[in-house]
Amino acid sequence: VPGMGDARGPDVVVVGGGAIGLASAWRVAQAGHSVEVVDPDPGSGASGVAAGMLAPVTEARLGEEDALRLGLASLELWPAFAAELGAAAGEAADRSVDGAGAGVGFRADGTVVVAADADDRVALRDLVDRERALGQRVDDLAARELRELEPALAPSVRRGALAAAECSVDPAAVVRALVAAVTRAGVAIRRSAVRGVVLDGAGDGRGGDGHGGGRRRVVGVELEDGEHVPAGAVVVAAGAWSGQLGGMPGGGHLPVRPVKGQVLTLRQRPGDEVVRHTVRGIVRGSHIYLVPRDDGRLVCGATVEERGWDAPPTAGGGYELLRDVLTLFPGLDDAELVGVRAGFRPGTPDDLPLLGPGDADGLVLATGHHRNGILLAPVTAAAVAASVAGEPVLEVVRSCDPARFAAPADGQRSTG
Ligand SMILES: Cc1cc2nc3c(=O)[nH]c(=O)nc-3n(C[C@H](O)[C@H](O)[C@H](O)COP(=O)(O)OP(=O)(O)OC[C@H]3O[C@@H](n4cnc5c(N)ncnc54)[C@H](O)[C@@H]3O)c2cc1C
Repeated sequence: VPGMGDARGPDVVVVGGGAIGLASAWRVAQAGHSVEVVDPDPGSGASGVAAGMLAPVTEARLGEEDALRLGLASLELWPAFAAELGAAAGEAADRSVDGAGAGVGFRADGTVVVAADADDRVALRDLVDRERALGQRVDDLAARELRELEPALAPSVRRGALAAAECSVDPAAVVRALVAAVTRAGVAIRRSAVRGVVLDGAGDGRGGDGHGGGRRRVVGVELEDGEHVPAGAVVVAAGAWSGQLGGMPGGGHLPVRPVKGQVLTLRQRPGDEVVRHTVRGIVRGSHIYLVPRDDGRLVCGATVEERGWDAPPTAGGGYELLRDVLTLFPGLDDAELVGVRAGFRPGTPDDLPLLGPGDADGLVLATGHHRNGILLAPVTAAAVAASVAGEPVLEVVRSCDPARFAAPADGQRSTG
């Protein structure tokens, strides 16, 4: 409802300007609300580092059917989302085949899955069987078909499969386009850090979290310098940092932790690419992927490290990635080495996001997207817009209800 915010503040404050916060801000602004995104450095989080695979099929695991349904729903939204974003950001729609997604590097050429040695081939077989058991289409590739798709694969790589439905984008370009699109939609971006949300009543975030004392309401956020920004609703989208925000109902913190990931960027000669599709490989038991961009860059990832806030890329991380990449594609030997970067995925105890209404009126959570936040940005933005409008929670995001980690009746919260 336009005008729901305090006369001095926006209707909605979005905490965090990564892919999730910006996409959400865009959809909420399109619904007619005044929106402010608060972030000291938009795009500086995981969204600027991610490889950009839109890969719910090859990420699918038995027992994670909810994540698969969510990912497939978002993948379906991506072509139109990319096209709308490209247009809204004022990018020329002349580079991609059908005009969709020019400017965000949207590619719909599928994922090739390969195995390096005999043991890896067994693992690949298991992986493909599991994906098929989940109802997903993955086609076996005979050696000759595999060579046609990826002629530069090492001769020892003789087995492969294709998940044709999968796509990729350039996440840094997505963030840039989102910044342009939200700005055009009238969203203000405030370069500050949020210390916590502010609830009505006690204001210290303690007590009265809906158990007997009545449900509380969000009235804004407090910035690091102590300034209060009043708002009718607050969307928490601070990625891996969401677990650090104060003022939450119940006095605890959201169960979100940083999961470090490193990616290696190479540059291939445009027009003479060694790697042509997104390729996922199993190389002596470790999993690796390579994601080509239209400008010749090739993003290879990724490590998964539970090391808290240890930020710098490491020699060991870079070595592991290079070793596995060159095992699959020896021809990348003289590709330009652009660099290694690290980011923090926002992890949750069950690897599903926290998405939907929080434990106070006007509080909406959109965080914890772990390995798939780029894939999940469109469905998340739709779900946030529905939550802000007070509409029923979208069916496909019910499994992400933040209440699954809610405090027991004594008011103690899980902090993961
Ligand atoms: C190496 C790597 C590879 C990945 N590959 C893929 C992939 O191929 N496909 C895919 O779908 N996903 C991938 N991911 C996951 C994806 O990057 C994340 O899930 C997604 O970017 C999360 O987006 P976000 O907006 O929630 O968080 P972020 O992009 O981290 O944004 C959070 C923002 O919050 C801001 N912030 C922090 N603290 C505060 C505060 N106190 N106040 C205000 N703002 C604050 C930060 O400055 C930042 O801009 C990958 C991640 C990594 C690390």
